[in-house]
Amino acid sequence: MITKFNPKRLILARKRRRLTGKDLATIAGISAVTISRVENGDNEPDEGTIARLGSALNYPQGFFFADDPEELDTKAVSFRSLTKMSAKERDAAIAAGCLGVQLSDWLEDQFSLPDTNLIDLSYETDAEAAAGALRAFWGLGEKPIGNMIGLLEVHGVRVFSLSEATKTVDAFSFWRDDRPFVFLNNFKTAEHSIYDSAHELCHLVMHRHAGAQPSRAAEREANQFASAFLMPANDVRPRMPKFITVDIIIRAKARWRVSAMAMAYRLHSLGMLSEWQYKSACIELGRRGYRTGEPNGIERETSAILRKVLSHLWGERTTKREIAGFLHLPQDELEGLIWGLAGPIVRPGRDSERPGLRLV
Ligand SMILES: [Zn+2]
Repeated sequence: MITKFNPKRLILARKRRRLTGKDLATIAGISAVTISRVENGDNEPDEGTIARLGSALNYPQGFFFADDPEELDTKAVSFRSLTKMSAKERDAAIAAGCLGVQLSDWLEDQFSLPDTNLIDLSYETDAEAAAGALRAFWGLGEKPIGNMIGLLEVHGVRVFSLSEATKTVDAFSFWRDDRPFVFLNNFKTAEHSIYDSAHELCHLVMHRHAGAQPSRAAEREANQFASAFLMPANDVRPRMPKFITVDIIIRAKARWRVSAMAMAYRLHSLGMLSEWQYKSACIELGRRGYRTGEPNGIERETSAILRKVLSHLWGERTTKREIAGFLHLPQDELEGLIWGLAGPIVRPGRDSERPGLRLV
């Protein structure tokens, strides 16, 4: 903890709240020039100004007096719908990433969490082969993945929620030193989030060292990888009849826990649906509501780590408000990072594990 006001933290909170300097000036009742001078480090804000900034942003003042926030390398941060996103949405999502890193650091201080166990597949040019290589490395065989978030967590990926209430931000991932992170937009269907997780997993293993801006080719590769990782060809082929109807697609998607559209796409890419059959299937699926949602969809996956951590802390009478307090975060930001991921919190029993518990 430092005692000096940290302008970088003011910028982070402002971007997280999707405000321009001018917006913040208006809400806080401070001149835009002052905001800009404070953000540039030219002015040390007085107590009254700090109080106004804190209440305008609804951030505890302690937030502004901590170390520099993590600088995420935005080039290395993968965004699926980069072009669809406004600068404000993008900045807010990246800011959520910074807060997630802070939460993750805090969790690692308190608990022993799984180590990173990913391989570098950047040499691989075929996404299908890369998906197979990772499955082999993790000893998964070719069966469907029962829980994608759980799988990522067991192998050391830290998964957080992006509560952006907008469908234009899908998900993103990044490496911070040797620690991979994935942020999922939990406003999507459960099937969509599973696919997003596999898509981001591809970026983590195939594009980590590419050093390039997100490209269309990388996006296509990540989609192919997700498709192959979730629906291995050798598991799909023998299970599908020669003539595949839309009803069969809808039944099949439940096995691989994917959306009906993703199932149809996979069948097409495996040559099991002709171009014409695929297009007709998409139209029919759209008509039945599978373009905008997932009728009778599966239950949302949750994070075993966050569930255990919160149960444990709850057992010690530590509330989310207190956790937010330790981190100098507003409670809504903490809730946002774990939203939809923690599931029901179970009170730990008498023989539950002790502090420093391993959650592996
Ligand atoms: Zn992507």
